Amino acid sequence: MPGDGIGPEIMAQGKKVLEVIGKKFGHQFDTTEALIGGVAIDETGVPLPDETVKACKESDAVLLGAVGGPKWDTIDPSIRPEKGLLGIRKELSLFANLRPAALFPQLKDACFLRPDIVEKGIDVMVVRELTGGIYFGEPRGTKTENGERMGYNTMIYYEHEVKRIAKVAFEAARKRDKRLCSVDKANVLDVSRVWREIVTEVAADYPDVELSHMYVDNAAMQLVRDPSQFDVIVTGNLFGDILSDEAAVITGSIGMLPSASLGESNPGLYEPIHGSAPDIAGQDKANPLATILSIAMMLRYSFNLTEEAECIEVAVEKTLSQGLRTGDIMDEGGTLVGCTEMGAAVLQNI
Ligand code: NAD
Repeated sequence: MPGDGIGPEIMAQGKKVLEVIGKKFGHQFDTTEALIGGVAIDETGVPLPDETVKACKESDAVLLGAVGGPKWDTIDPSIRPEKGLLGIRKELSLFANLRPAALFPQLKDACFLRPDIVEKGIDVMVVRELTGGIYFGEPRGTKTENGERMGYNTMIYYEHEVKRIAKVAFEAARKRDKRLCSVDKANVLDVSRVWREIVTEVAADYPDVELSHMYVDNAAMQLVRDPSQFDVIVTGNLFGDILSDEAAVITGSIGMLPSASLGESNPGLYEPIHGSAPDIAGQDKANPLATILSIAMMLRYSFNLTEEAECIEVAVEKTLSQGLRTGDIMDEGGTLVGCTEMGAAVLQNI
């Protein structure tokens, strides 16, 4: 689903990467294209047509560019492009959001942290629970009590919700450095105490993964003080929303960061974390690397093709080492290239 803005441009490069990986490793990937977001509104009147949902459910994995743009900012909020995104996540019951925030050594000057901190490296993966917690808990609402306005939400986690997100996180840690930090607020919140208890129980099935616990306020601080201490972080919807953005922004390169959203049996959804960048759309200026790295995640998590995923990641690193830079990651001494040229270089390096 290329979507809007720079979506079609970055997706075109991504598809070429998938083809070349197929040729190199002897796989055939069958791809179908579907409408989502603004383009879907223009063509069908809704941001998530039924045919799109059907095509996604019939696939083994779903790749998304980005949705949205000024053209659709003023239309009826109930059919805004973003509704397509929320809709497909819901249709596929994607309860786990995996966001790696890695700093490529070649881009260390873009990082917002002190050089001595950057030197130790940043390679954190935040696993965020996506369909539960305070964003969905009932009761919720606003009312007037004793002449005063008030608002309230409820943070709820059921055992099955914590178990399944914990499993995803332990599995992810197994594919990485085998260290998992569960983040909660168990010193204050009852729901967090249950969360901590259940995560600790799930750990028994993963003796090869080292589990630690941290309060969310401390985790927010530790992420900027010394991110190298983290491998995988697992946390609830609210804390994960904040921490995953924090982890992403410290790397300083939004055009580089991929993500995956996973469910139990449905296909996973893979997408760059950035938006449709309408300011540079159609100008061959977009950085395709977040999309290309999302394909690496897709190969790793949906197809279990670890070697193929690593091949893409190494090719991206090599391309950066060769000094190639799109505008968003341009630095002194870099060679400015467009989306197509960046994609072509990655293909060459694969
Ligand atoms: P954005 O991520 O689209 O852009 C923010 C800035 O980063 C812009 O200057 C843009 O040019 C730059 N940028 C983003 N991706 C880039 C890339 N790959 N290469 C080079 N530069 C890149 O965020 P925004 O401007 O807040 O939102 C624009 C539109 O995208 C809005 O309609 C918003 O709703 C939508 N959006 C969609 C998603 C999604 O589809 N997942 C996520 C965020 C925002």
